Amino acid sequence: MTETHWNIAIIGVGKIARDQHIPALSESASFTLAATASRNANIGGIDGYSSLADLLAARDDIPCISLCTPPQVRYDDARRALLAGKHVMLEKPPGATLSEVEDLIALAKAQGVTLFATWHSRYAASVATAREWLADKAITKLDIIWKEDVRRWHPGQEWIWEAGGLGVFDPGINALSVLTEIHPRALHLTQAELTFPENRDTPIAADLRFADPDGADITAEFDWRQEGPQTWDIRIETNGGTAVLSDGGARLTIGGQEIQAGPDREYPGLYARFADLLAQGASDVDLSPMRHVTDAFTLGRRVTTAPFDW
Ligand code: NAP
Repeated sequence: MTETHWNIAIIGVGKIARDQHIPALSESASFTLAATASRNANIGGIDGYSSLADLLAARDDIPCISLCTPPQVRYDDARRALLAGKHVMLEKPPGATLSEVEDLIALAKAQGVTLFATWHSRYAASVATAREWLADKAITKLDIIWKEDVRRWHPGQEWIWEAGGLGVFDPGINALSVLTEIHPRALHLTQAELTFPENRDTPIAADLRFADPDGADITAEFDWRQEGPQTWDIRIETNGGTAVLSDGGARLTIGGQEIQAGPDREYPGLYARFADLLAQGASDVDLSPMRHVTDAFTLGRRVTTAPFDW
């Protein structure tokens, strides 16, 4: 008989765990949040441990682990969980380097368990509709504008400014996860300019240009210094008209007409996908958004700007 209900533990009780994972799990018919592991935090009424090692030692009734820690510390916990025979779900980005995630893919396969590298923005309400609409179109131009205020969305999070924390690519990789989901062909980066505050290890802004094998002009502009209205838009010109995917993929207009979309179900969608993968005994790890980011760090021209302080 196939199991359809799973105990799960959250590792790293921070902003995204509280904002999204815990609410999504509380309404999930497939998962029960059975424990957490976090150095400094816990959730009232749920069994809490200060490390994954302690949790694994104490609870052998939890087959699934959802890692909500920053990317720099994700690998060690993911490896520990996989070695213990657990199914693992990774917040985005799936790790600090491509090679460490490749190692996790191989380990999950060897262990016969599920590894799911999530890209939550792909589950935004209008992304699937945009992908379907684009499937038979020729794209002539695509521009991503992803501009937000880092002080508003990441207050006090020092890890985003430390090596491996990605800086403005922490939100920017969400745009790239949508781009790689909706664009019908593989793309590669051809040009990048990364702007680093002089006192930080990661960029505060980035301008990217991609080559499309069919010749479309594709650009992305990421900036963490945007005050006032926040922008998470992708504008796509095609031989069949212009589409604008806005609010991070939640809204879609085609030829100026709003296409009706359902409510925001990004994280419930991720857990439903994890349940499907578990039922199939499959894994899902798409590294393409992360590869574009590492290419930007490889190819990018570096510019220094004013120091950043909270
Ligand atoms: P966060 O709140 O700063 O960190 C999550 C928790 O991880 C912390 O509260 C901390 O809990 C634990 N942790 C373990 N080692 C840590 C270390 N070396 N430095 C800092 N914290 C450490 O971060 P977050 O915003 O939830 O983001 C976590 C992941 O989710 C990131 O990969 C991010 O890209 C992704 N994400 C975030 C958002 C968002 O809106 N914030 C949205 C989508 C995805 P303890 O101190 O208790 O161990």
